[in-house]
Amino acid sequence: MVPPTVAQLDTSVAELVPVRAQVDRITGVYVCTRPFRAAGPRIELEKLGRKAIVHNYGHGGSGWSLSWGSSALAVDMARATGVRELGVIGCGALGLTSALLAQRAGMSVRIYAKALPPDVFSMRASGLWTPHSRICDAQHAADFGDRWETMARTSYAMYQSMLGLPGDPIEWIDGYHLLDAAPAQPSEAVSDEPDYGDLSDRISDLAPNSVTLPVGSTPFQQPVRRFSIMMFNITSYARMLMSDFLLAGGKIVVREFTHPRQLLALPERTLINATGYGARALFSDESIIPIRGQTARLIPQPDVNYALNTSHLSMVPRRDGLLVQVIGDTGNFNNSDLTPDRAASEAAVRQLADIMATMRRT
Ligand SMILES: Cc1cc2nc3c(=O)[nH]c(=O)nc-3n(C[C@H](O)[C@H](O)[C@H](O)COP(=O)(O)OP(=O)(O)OC[C@H]3O[C@@H](n4cnc5c(N)ncnc54)[C@H](O)[C@@H]3O)c2cc1C
Repeated sequence: MVPPTVAQLDTSVAELVPVRAQVDRITGVYVCTRPFRAAGPRIELEKLGRKAIVHNYGHGGSGWSLSWGSSALAVDMARATGVRELGVIGCGALGLTSALLAQRAGMSVRIYAKALPPDVFSMRASGLWTPHSRICDAQHAADFGDRWETMARTSYAMYQSMLGLPGDPIEWIDGYHLLDAAPAQPSEAVSDEPDYGDLSDRISDLAPNSVTLPVGSTPFQQPVRRFSIMMFNITSYARMLMSDFLLAGGKIVVREFTHPRQLLALPERTLINATGYGARALFSDESIIPIRGQTARLIPQPDVNYALNTSHLSMVPRRDGLLVQVIGDTGNFNNSDLTPDRAASEAAVRQLADIMATMRRT
């Protein structure tokens, strides 16, 4: 294919509204752990006494992105047990999508969870379509690839059906990756994370190709790679999922389980276990490795409608706050420390301010 000339490129990038990147505009700093499993998420049926437990956990940095596809597999397994009443343990991305899909399949569903949105890890995600983020390691990619592709395509199709809804739970945005940005951290920093499986080529048909835009054609001082990506406005999206579940007659019980045998006393014979990182303690599953992640939120700016990345930071223009995240840093793998490091977030906001200061104004 012949690459487009500069003259053919969309020049709307010239109208980007600068982010008001100031540390006094940070409304909160949030930490959570990605529930990573080297082999990919656990989606399988286990018998526990007279109960059937369908596990649906361990989605690394891709839980929202793969949720519908993963939960469709889990619900199929639950339906195959022949029950009409289903219990879902967990009310994050995977629990909510499992519960909704089960309702749509005609089941009566009760969610049990120790915490509900907004107090679940899923609410602390960046909110981008990243189905390949920390989803398995390189050694397991070949075995997991077909299942991953099915999950990604199912989820993608579901998300297209949610565009244009009130509150914009899901939208497509453009993003700009700044090439050759001045390194703000020592470049000798080496990743301490494993080689992850790269499955992205399998679904390259699902998003427009990214394109390099030269200096002079954008407001940035360096060449950029422009991409298009789906964004999940998690506050309105999670509220929509909760409302849909309750409107369809779903019930919610706030309850913590400390041992699997407590599940045996629940009235439902079939359960979906969507406890995310919580499955590590509840099911003694040490294959789940926590990967710490932290985001800072800046006061929303509705006019800022583009994502921005360098190799050290990312900005996501969510409606519920502009998310600023340090990326490419070390010390996160196998780290379950939930203590916010505000200084790190402030440094990222200052880096973003430096980029904004050199942006060409129209
Ligand atoms: C910084 C960061 C950015 C991310 N960005 C993205 C992104 O842009 N896109 C994306 O797709 N993914 C992203 N992720 C990954 C995503 O957040 C996770 O994969 C996803 O949240 C996992 O959802 P879950 O439903 O499995 O778990 P959770 O959201 O943790 O939900 C678990 C539920 O189970 C309940 N529970 C747990 N243990 C028990 C127990 N013992 N008893 C009763 N209830 C229990 C909890 O209360 C909760 O209701 C990001 C993660 C991080 C850390």
